[in-house]
Amino acid sequence: MSVPLESDREPFASAHELRGLLQHLQRCGVTLLPTSAVVAAPPPAVADTVPLRAAAPVPPAAPPGAELAPPPVFGQPVAPATVAASVTPPLFAVAEPYQGPSLPLAERVARLQTLAAEVAQCPRCEVLACSRKNTVFGEGHAAARVCFFGEGPGADEDATGRPFVGRSGQLLTKMIEACTFSREQVYILNTVKCRPPGNRNPDPAEIANCRPYFEEQFEIIRPDYIVCLGLVAAQTLLNSTLSIGKLRSRFHHYRGSKVLATYHPSYLLRNPNAKREAWADLKMLMRDMGIAIPKS
Ligand code: URA
Repeated sequence: MSVPLESDREPFASAHELRGLLQHLQRCGVTLLPTSAVVAAPPPAVADTVPLRAAAPVPPAAPPGAELAPPPVFGQPVAPATVAASVTPPLFAVAEPYQGPSLPLAERVARLQTLAAEVAQCPRCEVLACSRKNTVFGEGHAAARVCFFGEGPGADEDATGRPFVGRSGQLLTKMIEACTFSREQVYILNTVKCRPPGNRNPDPAEIANCRPYFEEQFEIIRPDYIVCLGLVAAQTLLNSTLSIGKLRSRFHHYRGSKVLATYHPSYLLRNPNAKREAWADLKMLMRDMGIAIPKS
């Protein structure tokens, strides 16, 4: 997988990419957009749309360790000359929205911190609560468009409290970068927050105990896309018993997010031939997001 430089990309590769961005802004609570530069129109087949208006710039992803700045003035009234319309209908119909209003960035960060503190004290699984060194809550941008959803911490993650930092984590980082993202721009989390001893799969009771935590994370972040890494994550999120082979290469839905299932990086390390299919899945994600696919 070759990793293109961010600076090589056009700001908007296509109207499709811009539309994806606008959908994301809408999920983040944007209701008013300036009219100064009409940049594109959505395909006429989409109902309930209004002509696209120039969007305010997207806040850049925070560098690691940096404090996340609150989003710009999205949702606040702007001067009359730049207001698109007195009534602001939704730009696009969003299927199955998450419950309630989308939170501003600072509130998302605060809610995730509170939840992480709760998870750090979690006593629900007797075995895991005794055997863990650290809980592994998840990390990344609280307004990420894409979440990568793994299975559960391994030894390296248990030791550090961070998701996907071992060998499979290094491969995941390459996969994320091949999609032209950085780890800081996406959000990475697991189905279970504690390491199952001996790296066994989490059992159904452990997954059930952790379900409220990852559901709350998705509720707060409301990603446009969730990429399930491996069978445990995919079957859990989609309430499915199908194999990865059957679940992959098409979009599913969880609440208001599109879901893609692909192979777990640790499976790819053991079966390098499957990398071609995983890359096909990631290209499908990029295509749907309107991101230009780098030439390999
Ligand atoms: N495997 C996972 O599923 N998650 C991690 O965080 C690390 C390895």
